[in-house]
Amino acid sequence: MDPELQDILKDFPPGPLSEYRNNASFNWKDMCLLIQGKDALVLKHKIWSTLEKDPVFAHCATKPTLKENRLLTLQRAQKLAEYNFMPAKNLLQKPEMLDSVVMAIGQLDWSSIVKLQLLYNFVISALYGMGTERHFKEIQRLMRREIGACFCLTEIGHGTNTKAMRTTAKFDVKTQEFVFHTPDFQAAKCWAGNLGETATHAVVFATLYTPDGENHGLHAFFIQIRDTQTFENLPGVSIGDMGEKLGLNGVDNGVMLFDQFRVPRAALLNRTGDVSESGLYVSPFKDKKKRLGASLGTLSAGRVGIASMATANLIKAITVGIRYSAVRRQFGPEDSNVELPVLEYQLQQWRLFPYLGAAYVLINFTRTFRKDFIEMQMAMMNKEDPDRLASVGAEVHAISSFAKPLSSWLAQQGVQECREACGGHGYLAVSGLGSVREDNDANCTYEGDNNVLLQQSANWLLNLWSLVQRRQSVAPYTPLGSAIYLDSAESILKSKCKLDTSQQWFEPQALLDAYQFAVCHLLRSTANRMQQLMDQKMDAFTAKNQAQAYHYRPLSIAYGETLFLMRMMRLLNDPNIPEQLRAVLKSLTALFGATNLMKHLSALTQGGYFQSNTSAALQTAIEQLCEKLKPDAIALIDAVAPSDFALNSALGHSDGQVYRHLEEHMASSMKTRPDWWQQVLLPPKKTSHL
Ligand SMILES: Cc1cc2nc3c(=O)[nH]c(=O)nc-3n(C[C@H](O)[C@H](O)[C@H](O)COP(=O)(O)OP(=O)(O)OC[C@H]3O[C@@H](n4cnc5c(N)ncnc54)[C@H](O)[C@@H]3O)c2cc1C
Repeated sequence: MDPELQDILKDFPPGPLSEYRNNASFNWKDMCLLIQGKDALVLKHKIWSTLEKDPVFAHCATKPTLKENRLLTLQRAQKLAEYNFMPAKNLLQKPEMLDSVVMAIGQLDWSSIVKLQLLYNFVISALYGMGTERHFKEIQRLMRREIGACFCLTEIGHGTNTKAMRTTAKFDVKTQEFVFHTPDFQAAKCWAGNLGETATHAVVFATLYTPDGENHGLHAFFIQIRDTQTFENLPGVSIGDMGEKLGLNGVDNGVMLFDQFRVPRAALLNRTGDVSESGLYVSPFKDKKKRLGASLGTLSAGRVGIASMATANLIKAITVGIRYSAVRRQFGPEDSNVELPVLEYQLQQWRLFPYLGAAYVLINFTRTFRKDFIEMQMAMMNKEDPDRLASVGAEVHAISSFAKPLSSWLAQQGVQECREACGGHGYLAVSGLGSVREDNDANCTYEGDNNVLLQQSANWLLNLWSLVQRRQSVAPYTPLGSAIYLDSAESILKSKCKLDTSQQWFEPQALLDAYQFAVCHLLRSTANRMQQLMDQKMDAFTAKNQAQAYHYRPLSIAYGETLFLMRMMRLLNDPNIPEQLRAVLKSLTALFGATNLMKHLSALTQGGYFQSNTSAALQTAIEQLCEKLKPDAIALIDAVAPSDFALNSALGHSDGQVYRHLEEHMASSMKTRPDWWQQVLLPPKKTSHL
């Protein structure tokens, strides 16, 4: 083996998981290398082994108070900045490695990496994306950590509907300043991470007015909000903290109001629109919609990152769920006194293995999509063909609009399933599942609520459908190929599923065919439904509302899951993959595809693709695939699991010594009585002896 990896991919000590490990059909180390890649493995190992030695990252024995948590998170974020696991030189050479850094640190502690990213990196990329040369000085100050910032878009009254934001920024020609004002509490900026207690500066979105009173729509500004010497709010700015949340409590989310607060003209991030000294508005974009789209486009980067964050959470949860299930024994055959590991039960496999499949599918998807995203950024920097760039941008937006929702939901549902799969002990904080569940939850909401975001993918598909109806090729509009099969929509919609045995569903191509049918059918029926409603004189807004639940939503989900499968097929068709690994990856892909395809049964039957007995064969395939994957489940986990230090779970430790870890955890409480023990019993009452 590569000497650099010898220290990283070490054999596990013999123990309760050995039997499953010995029965695996492949070598987990080969799978680890294939699915994660050497660079990511080396980097993650460096991160975990460095942080394990650092006392600031030691696991807390008891839950810290909110105040302690905030301070600890700040100290950790500062330490992470010092360690600089991704120096600029490496970032330029291998930008995709940033996801590995975020995933590795996040699997240990999300708050600290979220805090660090928001305080510096997120705002730096916003200034690069929306600002110009005049903001370089601020970028330098952020890089030197002389200042720290937050990102304020959401207001108390509006989040998703960005057009309805009510903070105003009016230009005053006399003083060459913008005057920021919050008309009432509903217009207060809120939720921004680091705003509550930490940030000295903020990217703030406000409606820009020129002196002639014209409203130029939402614009971003980079402004100072706290005094860097005293940390007091600047006069005209009121800042509060939003208080304890369901998770991510190391991050201070804040609320902010402006009272005629003045900032210099240069604060405007002026890449897409500027105000001259004489108060005239100038913009290279004539269409307001396009200008807003261009400035909000930078947010797509956040969604790509969140898909990786959710993947990291799912991996962590499924590691705990499956390792524990392989150790935990309950019941056994009547003629035997041996109890079976709960992993032997079909129901436990059926609940957990599709999420194991999802973890692999998402690792592969997020890695390939990150590559697409980086290529798009490079093409933008090199000012390549603008028409192609516009198409790539629209497709990346459509993909990121399902990637974040589907990955964060898969993680959320997967964590909950793992929690229940671990029974009562799964409910203990030492299972490690509670913090994953609470921290992942926010991924479903920030950077765009999942349900609202999904509609964006469907909008893009409907635009392509109008080309299909005119018998034009969609190819120029799907340069990444995510919807290229729409060019064959006519023949796909005429096709019928001819599979009648469960074994035929073991082929991912069979699932992909069914999925592509589902997308074409849902797309056609959504377009028809919209037409029907508009023929009834309904306006487009109302018609869309009437088609959200059974048309737009399942359409976007089916399109997303189809792309997940297409990207897995690309991996499976790679001739360099060892056969043993290909075989197990094929089964995992088939299980993921088959389980999720069951959600689209109505589209497949209504569209005439499925015959009366098709879904029964699909169900049998799912049962058989679970059984087939059982001997490989632990090795599949070993290939993606974080280090024991990062996992920090008594139930999911790689040594499988669940009961020893639980005993160690509970041992300390066995020696002590509570401080308040004297309040437990009432003093004995004097009894009268009559
Ligand atoms: C932990 C956390 C951190 C955050 N950090 C930041 C930050 O740093 N900066 C920042 O600016 N913001 C931040 N946010 C705010 C976040 O971006 C918003 O909460 C998010 O965009 C959703 O907006 P909303 O809360 O207004 O939801 P709403 O838009 O009010 O949505 C409420 C519900 O209505 C539904 N809904 C809304 N519109 C439609 C529609 N057209 N059709 C169907 N259903 C609809 C949604 O699906 C949702 O279920 C953060 C939020 C959280 C939870």
